[in-house]
Amino acid sequence: MIVLKTPDEIELMRLAGEVVADAHHLIEEMLAPGVTTAELDAAVEALFNERGATPLFKGYPGEVPFPAVSCISVNEEVVHGIPGERTICEGDIVSFDTGCRLNGWCADAAWTYPVGKMDAAKADLLRVGEAALWSSINELPRQATWFEVARIVSQQVSRAGFCLIEDFVGHGIGREMHEDPQVPSVVDGEEAETDFALEPGLVLAIEPMVTAGTPDVVLCDDYWTVETEDFSPCVHFEHSIAMTDDGPVVLTAGVGRPCTTNQG
Ligand code: MG
Repeated sequence: MIVLKTPDEIELMRLAGEVVADAHHLIEEMLAPGVTTAELDAAVEALFNERGATPLFKGYPGEVPFPAVSCISVNEEVVHGIPGERTICEGDIVSFDTGCRLNGWCADAAWTYPVGKMDAAKADLLRVGEAALWSSINELPRQATWFEVARIVSQQVSRAGFCLIEDFVGHGIGREMHEDPQVPSVVDGEEAETDFALEPGLVLAIEPMVTAGTPDVVLCDDYWTVETEDFSPCVHFEHSIAMTDDGPVVLTAGVGRPCTTNQG
């Protein structure tokens, strides 16, 4: 069941979104060759503690509970990378995903950051992935239902020569991180009954994942980390967004680099 939020509730979610954005800023400052993903995660946990925010990822139920406050997925890792002893290298692309609950309300955002000099292929991938997120947001007020948005964005990504990952979906967000509805990046006619109206009060975490290779993924033996099957690099861009009478509001605004030329 989709639970719509009031303007006051959306404002509380925006405050949680500010903490998530601050976590991203911290990671951007720290990301450099030689840092380990465990060091990045520890800094974010300290920030959440300091701000009185509850991490949403730590302890998330699975085959083993998720052991960290953020998912850090490098290069061919798609999502759910477990922070650890892996050392970041020049030329890596690092997807950082985290969420917190503040005063009972949640926010969740992911961004893929380049480290140092990046090759042209990865630069293209980042550009197309980020554009997929901004296109999704920009289409929200122009379309009646989510599936219409997803079809437009899927076409843009495939025309650019890239693939959306189909195995993972965005989600409603509110008092819980994962609420109805599911927000698939790729839709087909067979699931039309899961489409939903884009109406004021709807709050979604929209999170396209884009790869240069095939969209097939594999689960690693740590039970969490997901990689592309062909080891192609992958990017992940996610904002928490509220539909309001005045259009979509990005509750995790500030996440990512300010060079978001696709916005607007
Ligand atoms: Mg999410």
